[in-house]
Amino acid sequence: MRPQPLSASSPVQFLKGVGPKKATSLLKLGIRTVADLLFHFPVRYSAPVALKHIDKIEADRIEAVRCSVKSSRISFLKGGRKRIFEVLFTDGTGILRATWFSFPAKSYKNRFEPDSRWIVRGKVTFNRYRGSKEMVHPETVSADEYDKEGSGELEGILAYYSLTEGIAQKSLRVVIESAMEHVSELKDCVPDAINEKYQIPSLQHSLRAVHQPVPEADYDALNLMATREQKKLIFTEFFLLQAGLALKRRSVRQEVPGTAFDVDDELRRKIAHVFPFSFTRAQERVTGEIVDDITTDKPMNRLLQGDVGSGKTAVALAAALMAVRNKKQAAIMAPTEILAMQHYKKITELLADSKVNVKLLTSGAKGKKETLQAITDGDSHITVGTHALIQDKVIFAGLGLVVIDEQHRFGVRQRAELIGMGENTHTLIMTATPIPRTLAMTLYGDLDISVLDELPPGRTPVVTKIYSPSNRESALSLIKKEVAKGRQAFIIYPLVEESDKLELKAAVTMYESLKDGPFSDLTLGLTHGRMKGSEKDEVMERFTKGEIDVLVSTTVVEVGIDQPNATVIMIEHAGRFGLSQLHQLRGRIGRSSHQSYCLLMSEEKQAAQSLARLKILTKSEDGFRIAEEDLAIRGSGDFFGAKQSGLPEFRIGDILRDHKIMSAARASAFELVEKDPDLKAPEHKNLRTAIEENWQERFALGEIG
Ligand code: ADP
Ligand code: MG
Repeated sequence: MRPQPLSASSPVQFLKGVGPKKATSLLKLGIRTVADLLFHFPVRYSAPVALKHIDKIEADRIEAVRCSVKSSRISFLKGGRKRIFEVLFTDGTGILRATWFSFPAKSYKNRFEPDSRWIVRGKVTFNRYRGSKEMVHPETVSADEYDKEGSGELEGILAYYSLTEGIAQKSLRVVIESAMEHVSELKDCVPDAINEKYQIPSLQHSLRAVHQPVPEADYDALNLMATREQKKLIFTEFFLLQAGLALKRRSVRQEVPGTAFDVDDELRRKIAHVFPFSFTRAQERVTGEIVDDITTDKPMNRLLQGDVGSGKTAVALAAALMAVRNKKQAAIMAPTEILAMQHYKKITELLADSKVNVKLLTSGAKGKKETLQAITDGDSHITVGTHALIQDKVIFAGLGLVVIDEQHRFGVRQRAELIGMGENTHTLIMTATPIPRTLAMTLYGDLDISVLDELPPGRTPVVTKIYSPSNRESALSLIKKEVAKGRQAFIIYPLVEESDKLELKAAVTMYESLKDGPFSDLTLGLTHGRMKGSEKDEVMERFTKGEIDVLVSTTVVEVGIDQPNATVIMIEHAGRFGLSQLHQLRGRIGRSSHQSYCLLMSEEKQAAQSLARLKILTKSEDGFRIAEEDLAIRGSGDFFGAKQSGLPEFRIGDILRDHKIMSAARASAFELVEKDPDLKAPEHKNLRTAIEENWQERFALGEIG
């Protein structure tokens, strides 16, 4: 049998030097094919260095020396468990001690034979205790090999990649080098005309330049991801995203005309009477924007951003009532049963005196059959629910409006499913995760955006304080004092994904020890993600009824919960949360005229930067400002990195650093789609293919086309 010829789309396993084991490791980095390898970009570069004598190399610098092995040995670290491999090199001017902590013992012993000659490069440290110059895990190349190949890799600029277990820096470089043989097979999704217009270098050249920079390349620019070639790759990545967004936006616009609702001032006034408060100016403005959308026959596709407590739900209900008045059904979808239940309760209360029928549809809700029937018959005017709403069995008599609450929890893929619920339904997506406006426009290129930037009146600002472990007592006594006044409290414990189990155990232990210790005379409740839905609901219900004083929760799923009587939220390991997340948690309190407190528990050894981050929260209650500062401190990688954010992850681009490139990519992509909406032109074939192959998986923004 003849083996298949190796190509860019072959699995990496068929590359020279990659066996099944390495292939598994590479998969963890998201690398499946030879082409994927070429799109696994270096995260940094090391400067080229000139060979020096050992007596001339300096501590804290990356240096390279030509030397030979004096001796080598395996020794043990203090405690005796960890083995290290140690080589003493010499070049006649001094001794360089090199150590490796994990190493293949046999081959290292053979490799560094006494008197063998090497070029050794790495960061120099000076060990005062021994008085010796040292390098940990230096790069080594046999001097013979080095001389044979002339100015070898050590003198050049070296690329460093993010790694995973089972792959070393050097072997990844080697593997990428063999993948590079297939670089000419890759097709650029950016049409030539655009590359020419912006004088962008070719994809092939750029990939080479980024993985294997020539020795005279601009080392600083490389590390800033600012070379022409890097920019080309960033542009390409953004272009692919934007072209997909442009297509999606177009397809939504082109769909069968939606229903143009009739909404006059009379109706708006009537709807206003449903609420026991008058709308804030921001709520009025946004309602107006929604009315402008739904009174045309183009389906609305609007993202409503608003800080926690800004009153998004009220706006959503107003829109739902407009649909109902136009003899259409509305669906409001929440990410959890608890939130759905809460919306349901609030809405039924508000509509108690009206003829509007409201139903709850969740997987756990009672009377599901009847509810489904009511939806099909058109008797359920407003249906509040969870994912259960997008299941096949749900058939609406005439769906006119879909509202999706806290959309970041759904992931954008589900958003597409939802929009598909009714072909021409108006859709309002709501999120409390503030994304700076310019970024939002870029990322949600297919949506119009409204912002609720004003809180309803009568809120007392929350007092936010950072507590160190030694001040824990006073945090606990503050909770006790509040409970004594008849108020309630949340204690939130973070769950970090990888260590779910351990963290859960810690949280349960803490709950037990509070219950038996300092809070023995209070009523405590516990909810966590591993609890059954019904158990969780029961606890939540008792909390809302005021039967539980202090609710310990391991999950942040319930963040949308509204319990105005709760005035304290204590957040354990606050440093592990993102600022925006903390801000959302804080939004659970301060919902009444009582003074509320947010207690951020820091860890013993909180890094200064992390403390500085928490301090932002003590100074501001503006979600957008907090998000921007958080972005500035953490960078967008971390900010958007959280899986649950549902936002695209880029391989080389950074939406903050590269926002100008994003704008350019957006403009070109939208212009292209405007001219050739089906990407039929031969020069757009590569783009079409790239979108089909890549878009959904990479950007996970749902179906397109
Ligand atoms: P969000 O969903 O944006 O976090 P909600 O819609 O849950 O905010 O509103 C938070 C609280 O503020 C609710 O208790 C709601 O009844 C109340 N609320 C909303 N709008 C107003 C308003 N204009 N005036 C007074 N209270 C309001
Ligand atoms: Mg809400």
